[in-house]
Amino acid sequence: MIRIGLGKDLHRLVEGRPFIVGGVTIPADKGELGHSDGDVLCHAIIDALLGASGLGDIGEFFPPSDPRWKDADSLELLKQSAEKVYRSGWKIINIDCVLTCESPRLLPHRQHIRESLARALQIPADRIFVKGKTNEKVDAIGAGLAVEALAVCLLEHAQ
Ligand code: MG
Repeated sequence: MIRIGLGKDLHRLVEGRPFIVGGVTIPADKGELGHSDGDVLCHAIIDALLGASGLGDIGEFFPPSDPRWKDADSLELLKQSAEKVYRSGWKIINIDCVLTCESPRLLPHRQHIRESLARALQIPADRIFVKGKTNEKVDAIGAGLAVEALAVCLLEHAQ
């Protein structure tokens, strides 16, 4: 049995916060505002994995109202989510993602991000891909006010 999962997230970008993508801090003028560290890519992947496995969603497992997740390391939340998915008998076939922000460019950091996610998920980095896009200066993302991530995953069940 195989199942697809879809995840999406968006965070506002503000000065004075680090810009963290897939557990990697990227030099930038602004970073994600969030209750946790705001790692938008990790959050989208968590929802893709939890959705595909039917286990729930990020808001259920790590509610922003819970002080435990204040400034939480989202790569650690991703690791915990993947462990739930693995314990339910699922294996990750692949994950594909799109990160949309006006700046900085993702490409110079892509391999580092793939390797960071691979370590957290305990899968080879060639099963994870991340593409960087801009929004052509249109809407809040294009104005540099927000960053968005989309993720799809394919899971395979052992049975
Ligand atoms: Mg989020």
